[in-house]
Amino acid sequence: MERSDSLEQASQVIGRLAPSPTGGLHVGHARTFLIAWLAARSAGGRIVLRIEDIDTTRVRPGATEQAIADLEWLGFDWDSGPYVQSQRMDAYREAMELLKRKELVYPCTCTRADIERAASAPHAEDEGPTYPGTCAGRFAHDAAKLAGRSFAWRFRVPSSDVSWNDLFLGEMAINPAVRGGDFSIAREPFVPSYQLAVVVDDNAMDVNQVVRGDDLVVSTPRQILISQALGAAIKRTYGHVPLVCDASGKRLAKRDGAIKLATLRADGVDPRNLIGLLAQSCGLSETIVPSRPDNWIDVFRPGSVPRASWTFNLNEFVNRL
Ligand code: GLU
Ligand code: ZN
Repeated sequence: MERSDSLEQASQVIGRLAPSPTGGLHVGHARTFLIAWLAARSAGGRIVLRIEDIDTTRVRPGATEQAIADLEWLGFDWDSGPYVQSQRMDAYREAMELLKRKELVYPCTCTRADIERAASAPHAEDEGPTYPGTCAGRFAHDAAKLAGRSFAWRFRVPSSDVSWNDLFLGEMAINPAVRGGDFSIAREPFVPSYQLAVVVDDNAMDVNQVVRGDDLVVSTPRQILISQALGAAIKRTYGHVPLVCDASGKRLAKRDGAIKLATLRADGVDPRNLIGLLAQSCGLSETIVPSRPDNWIDVFRPGSVPRASWTFNLNEFVNRL
């Protein structure tokens, strides 16, 4: 990937859409993508599309093609990609070598489940207990003694607040030592964690604006620390948007087929009705205006997106059509 050196390009907003092909995308993803896409486009920015498929145990055949078809159906476009994480393993390996040389990571042989889960983005319900630092006395080279065993690499976090000014949540400060502690950044045999892959990619793709669901808030201090550890000069803005709930108040989940974009698409729903509803939910219009994402570029302001979670009522939506 060519790095852009001109000042003009360096200051341009570069946002990204980063679906995981682990199930079908649903209305909640569509809303977050709309906000991410508009946050970049309304600033005259560019969009990168990235497929986050390193958790091979959860990737479903055909889900990448379906995610792209869903995005196109809704009317999104992008300027580069799709980049595919499973094809970028060398870049993640290289980053790990640097972190080992800096003694910022150590081998951990504690829990299996924790080690296995790390390849997927940790959404709210995945936040486990804080790691007690059992293996923190090890050095990176101690991994040689573990040859042939499977283990995790943990990233050493400082015990101080990492802060950022969130596009939607305002001033944020999280002490990573309290929220999770030293976290898994890869496992051996080598599989990068979600945290490592995202940062290596955001750096390589010059992404300077990350907009995603607020269940990933706890990942942000980790990603800021990894990015600094890798020596990245890029200044990055983060924005976390509230999640979408269903009529019963539960967070929309991939297991619920009815709210999947592919289902709505197959049922012949006009995507402009969905975009109109989502735009209204973001405070961009009072009524539902059938529309495409680019119709909202000029009116979008991060400040108009409500702080509270939004309820998607499928029956109401379908009955109105
Ligand atoms: N691929 C992740 C997910 O679908 C999103 C990660 C991110 O935006 O940082 O959960
Ligand atoms: Zn350990």
